Amino acid sequence: MKRAIFLFIFLSFTLLIIQSCKKPLIFGIEYQKNLGLQVRDQILSDPQNYPILDEKRYPEAYRHINRITQNILNSGKVELKDRFTWEVRIIQDDKTLNAFCTPGGYIFVYTGLIKYLETEDQLAGVMGHEIAHADRQHSARQLEKQFGVALLVEIALGQKGGQDLKNLANALAGLRFSRDHEYEADAFSVEYLSGTQYRCNGAADFFVKLTQSGAQTPPEFLSTHPNPGNRVEAINQKAQAINCPTNKPDSKTEYQKLKASLP
Ligand SMILES: [Zn+2]
Repeated sequence: MKRAIFLFIFLSFTLLIIQSCKKPLIFGIEYQKNLGLQVRDQILSDPQNYPILDEKRYPEAYRHINRITQNILNSGKVELKDRFTWEVRIIQDDKTLNAFCTPGGYIFVYTGLIKYLETEDQLAGVMGHEIAHADRQHSARQLEKQFGVALLVEIALGQKGGQDLKNLANALAGLRFSRDHEYEADAFSVEYLSGTQYRCNGAADFFVKLTQSGAQTPPEFLSTHPNPGNRVEAINQKAQAINCPTNKPDSKTEYQKLKASLP
């Protein structure tokens, strides 16, 4: 009898652990898409905090950023490629070295980041990292922890807006991920880029550059853990593990055109 009780408790705990690690999370794909759409609209309606670069005035810049996004999405490695919406917008703010992606695939890249980097492979690496946070559903998990499922559902269904939606958009723009999720997003950036023409460890350059230049670390990459040096090492190890060459020449010409097309 004692053994039976022990077995019962053991099985219950195992089930509990399996349940808590299981994917997908409570907040499903369709909800994530709707939530992303609400956040995107919130961001577009707040030019003071998010001055979006006008696509009509700067078609060349958008042609390039869309091309880079498509290259990553068409790598054949993005799991939710056909299930999420995937849209990219540029935020005109030269001081911010950042990019982020909402659940559902709405990507935002700051001009500060584009101008800071030197090659398309580097930007593709950072964008791959952001795409991975959405594709691996890290952002949804993090928001679920921070805001609770009930509020997220209400916002996704458009039943709650105003300050709650504003808070959510701001949280997303500066979301702090766990150490595991940062490493996973780095690894997936390598994975995605291995299916493109880009050098698959492009993201590593960003961290190298950050440590060398002493530039202010942007919120998304602010985490004191994992430290940039360890991340560079992990990215290069991943590239080696999946056998993708890291000595490809970088695509600089087209990237210079993207930079030149920005105000
Ligand atoms: Zn990240």
